[in-house]
Amino acid sequence: MSSDPSSSSTPSSDTSTYERWRRRFSLITGLGGTKEERMTDMEEYHRQTCEKWKRELMNYSPAVVFMLKHLKLSGCDVSSADLICSPCDFTRSGGFSPEAGAVVLCQGKFFSKVHMEDTLVHELVHMYDHCKFKVDWYNLRHHACSEIRANSLSGDCRWSREVRRGFVAFSKQHQECVRRRAIISVRANPRVRMKPPRSELSTRFGTAVSMTLDHLMRSTRP
Ligand SMILES: [Zn+2]
Repeated sequence: MSSDPSSSSTPSSDTSTYERWRRRFSLITGLGGTKEERMTDMEEYHRQTCEKWKRELMNYSPAVVFMLKHLKLSGCDVSSADLICSPCDFTRSGGFSPEAGAVVLCQGKFFSKVHMEDTLVHELVHMYDHCKFKVDWYNLRHHACSEIRANSLSGDCRWSREVRRGFVAFSKQHQECVRRRAIISVRANPRVRMKPPRSELSTRFGTAVSMTLDHLMRSTRP
């Protein structure tokens, strides 16, 4: 006797095969099933894709393997459980939570495995900085420094990604991209949100990022 449901009689396994096909079909075409069923299917599909790419990147991406190795050497052993695939209710594709010591990968937000790789490397740089340099995330210049490193060392500012965003310039493209993206991230940090008027704040963020960028231009650790 077996309690394995897959060994049950033919009609029910036919039914489950059909059910799988129907769900898959409705996932692709958007037809059949309720809206909730389709949403659940879609979320499950995004979760599985995210988990699959995460596994592959952790094993085969030279950049991810490099970061994981250096995190381990710095005393921060990162396992698959510390890199969390999850639906996100915001427009970014990932994030690092210093409090949780974990990276969130926003399933369904990646347009390719390379995009997910860049996001993961970016967040792992933050994790490395947090582990190695005891970054004070409330300090504007500390955060700016980590953002600049994350944007420079990941593929965030590669040429093709910039073209997709609509930013095309022929000189100092990489440096400008690093600067622009670091300002956006520092500005979004809830820990350094302050009261002064917006224009003054932008100048302050811009100055912090520029000063830190000048200082770091020759630094390429890890
Ligand atoms: Zn960042």
